[in-house]
Amino acid sequence: MNAARPLLSLDDALARLVEGAAPHRITQTEPLSSFDALGRVLAADVRSLLDVPPEDNTAMDGYALRAADVPSAGALLPVSQRIPAGVPGRPLTTGTAARIFTGGQMPAGADAVVMQEQCEAVADNHSEFGAVRVDTVPARGQWIRLRGEDVLADAVVLHAGTRLTPQALGMAASVGSGTLTVVRRPRVAVFSTGDELMMPGEPLRPGAIYNSNRFTLRALLLSAGCAVQDLGIVPDRLDATRAALREAATGNDLIVTCGGVSVGDEDHLKPAAQAEGELQNWQLAIKPGKPLAFGHIRRGDGTAALLLGLPGNPVSAFVTWLLCGTTLLRAMQGLPAALPPGLPMRAGFDWPKPDKRREFLRVRIAADDTLELFANQSSGVLTSAVWADGLVDNPPGQGIARGDSVRFMPLAGLIAR
Ligand code: AMP
Ligand code: MG
Repeated sequence: MNAARPLLSLDDALARLVEGAAPHRITQTEPLSSFDALGRVLAADVRSLLDVPPEDNTAMDGYALRAADVPSAGALLPVSQRIPAGVPGRPLTTGTAARIFTGGQMPAGADAVVMQEQCEAVADNHSEFGAVRVDTVPARGQWIRLRGEDVLADAVVLHAGTRLTPQALGMAASVGSGTLTVVRRPRVAVFSTGDELMMPGEPLRPGAIYNSNRFTLRALLLSAGCAVQDLGIVPDRLDATRAALREAATGNDLIVTCGGVSVGDEDHLKPAAQAEGELQNWQLAIKPGKPLAFGHIRRGDGTAALLLGLPGNPVSAFVTWLLCGTTLLRAMQGLPAALPPGLPMRAGFDWPKPDKRREFLRVRIAADDTLELFANQSSGVLTSAVWADGLVDNPPGQGIARGDSVRFMPLAGLIAR
């Protein structure tokens, strides 16, 4: 029997992961078309090459004019030109209006736009474009989007060390950046350990289960922008585990495994990793999750790949990755590593028997904006993770009564972190 070891708090574990990532910081960068840069980490600030918008333009379809030319509602102005978006007009002749369309550049001399709903086009035999009756008194400046009101030339619009979201890619394009400097993708090898594991599609042998973690973890790594090398299933044998670790260390920054980190006789990750590098087996004070291994595997050239050994239970593996794995991976890329703070929400459930460990309860947002608890919080019940919108981060030993404020962490934010 192994004597019970003191549990490591999540915060201490995260601090150790960040510290352990420092020598493994990925510093190589590459130029990349912003077309292909979704989810990548920006390595250099993006500065605007121009004012955005580049010129004053209209926010409405209507008429550009001088407000002073419409002293009262019903004023009639000849239409002197037509300005569609993309075609600059001519300076506006005094006492006339320009027909203009959303995004069209304001003609010099015009100081207001009247939306077409407040105008009436009127025939005028003397003018190619007719005339307009303006049924409102415009205020100077109305419906004009000013040059530079979004971004000024040379302003930093995206900062190095941030992940590129869809809207960030749009922003880069809007300031004229077609190529971005990004951190190269983290290279991550992943394998599952366990003689009981089989692949979906194979008929299940007695005693076997399907390998779900292989799919969950690979997808989590892909969502996090990693280049993933999937090494499949490794049997519960020391030599096989050692060989898999050696292969995984070659050409990868990080090795992620699941299973085999408990203290049973069939748990070979620790001895295998210690033979090929170094490993600490932690017992985290969290639920789900508890066993977590962190270390490194040496390569032939004297360098090393980091190793994160996740627990085997599917919900434990999922939650431990979301808390610990993402923190490690972010630190390796120079991203802020602190967990998202969570949102205060009302519990719509009672949790009278909390665990001594910090719990991450699978919950869903109910129609009345309270949180609903999944009935079975067992670490093997993957249904809870599919059903849930997020996790309640519940402090050790703290009971919850219906109506209490709890800390809610949306799953989407953790997965895409
Ligand atoms: P272990 O940490 O290897 O003792 O595994 C703990 C539990 O998780 C056992 O019930 C395993 O069968 C299960 N398990 C381990 N790896 C996987 C996996 N890749 N997919 C699904 N379940 C797993
Ligand atoms: Mg196992």
